[in-house]
Amino acid sequence: MQVQICGAGISGSYLYMLLRDEHRVKVKEVRDTVDCVCAWGIAYRQAKELYREIGLNFDEYVLSKPKFAIANGIKFKNKNIVTFDRKSLLEELWKEIEFGQNDADIYIDATGTERALLPKIKEDKIYLTVQYLEEHEIEENVYAYARKTGYAWAFPLGDNRWHLGAGDISYERAEELIKKLREFYGFNEKNVFCSCRGKVRMLPPSKCKPFVFEKIVGVGEAIGCVSGFGEGNAPSLECAKILFENFYDRSEYEKEVLRRFKWIEIEHKLVECMQNGKKISAMLKIPRVAMIERKRSAFSLNFFKLIKI
Ligand SMILES: Cc1cc2nc3c(=O)[nH]c(=O)nc-3n(C[C@H](O)[C@H](O)[C@H](O)COP(=O)(O)OP(=O)(O)OC[C@H]3O[C@@H](n4cnc5c(N)ncnc54)[C@H](O)[C@@H]3O)c2cc1C
Repeated sequence: MQVQICGAGISGSYLYMLLRDEHRVKVKEVRDTVDCVCAWGIAYRQAKELYREIGLNFDEYVLSKPKFAIANGIKFKNKNIVTFDRKSLLEELWKEIEFGQNDADIYIDATGTERALLPKIKEDKIYLTVQYLEEHEIEENVYAYARKTGYAWAFPLGDNRWHLGAGDISYERAEELIKKLREFYGFNEKNVFCSCRGKVRMLPPSKCKPFVFEKIVGVGEAIGCVSGFGEGNAPSLECAKILFENFYDRSEYEKEVLRRFKWIEIEHKLVECMQNGKKISAMLKIPRVAMIERKRSAFSLNFFKLIKI
């Protein structure tokens, strides 16, 4: 088949590698160079296994394995989240990609928040992000500062480099959150190398339908493969793998995405309850989210710590 992938981000470039032996695949990308708009956190075991399938040694890109994740001052043991050099990894994949345009049998929308090919989502929910690359001599943990509408993060990248960022309903609010994070954990504003603005889709897959429209199939963040806490790297890779495995059966693809990302739906529901001030409903959902994160071996979350946040 002639396949046209639109978007060479994390899902599009991975899908290209999976499909290229069996199909005639080309990739259209609006950027000339790989961007670094992401905090670079990822679930290690999932990433290692998925990238192994395309012959890439993920360990070569790991930058830091933080011991703890600290949210609003509350400490959780980190079991599986690492930071990786996402830019170098994508640059390596871009060397393999044949860029260009096909008169294709199938078009893949891998354009993330843009969702450039699929019909627009009526009540889309896009959060705005701000991020800085900085230098700090602080213990390598993941630090977060959350409030009702959004949260700020600090992710260690090794060699005293850090990504400090935030996502909220406006850029101004995101900047405010970063300020709060700085005050709370002592990340003074100094040695800032660069900054960028971005977007993240805050809707689960069930609210990003259709996944398939005529000759177009969506993958990754374009169809809501991002958790309620903004984790989209491993889910987008996994989504591309699901598409590869169900390439000839689109309705099975849709079912499988909804089934495998049930956990994303639950996390979004918890976030929604917290944002709408529904404390009782939120508390009732916390044990399930704690169980999900434990099962995915990300953080050893526990109910009593979570309700404090
Ligand atoms: C600031 C920030 C920090 C984040 N931090 C994390 C994190 O630490 N861990 C985590 O798991 N997730 C994180 N995420 C989410 C994660 O980065 C995304 O969910 C993930 O990159 C989505 O992958 P994707 O392939 O679907 O889309 P992207 O990786 O966004 O790729 C989309 C690609 O499509 C291209 N494109 C856009 N429009 C067009 C068009 N019209 N034609 C052609 N190409 C187009 C873009 O240039 C881009 O290359 C973060 C997001 C943001 C904004």
